Amino acid sequence: MTKLSDRVAALTGSDREVDHDIYEAITGKCSHRHIMTIDGDGDCWSEVCSRCCEEEPDHVTRAYTGSIDAAMTLVPEGREAEILIEAINSNRETDWTKALPRYVASAALKARGL
Ligand SMILES: [Zn+2]
Repeated sequence: MTKLSDRVAALTGSDREVDHDIYEAITGKCSHRHIMTIDGDGDCWSEVCSRCCEEEPDHVTRAYTGSIDAAMTLVPEGREAEILIEAINSNRETDWTKALPRYVASAALKARGL
């Protein structure tokens, strides 16, 4: 199986599916990525996650591959400088600023062995 850090490194833009995979790998919880709306009686309806069946699940997955703030939450404590330097040095993209969250996320996941 391809490592999550390698999958992030191979991206050419932010990717919500990968964001959900990162959330699930880090937390061990369902990211509730597939929400179904269930019609009830009359005007009632509710949302249910089709994977874990939780009702009215919170949408908590952050944009790890698109937001520097979200990507930084993946960095193991005390390794911020090391991860940032690695991300900065490996980022050769034209749209450097936009690409940086992906490089930070990839380096952080690699540091976590993911
Ligand atoms: Zn779920």
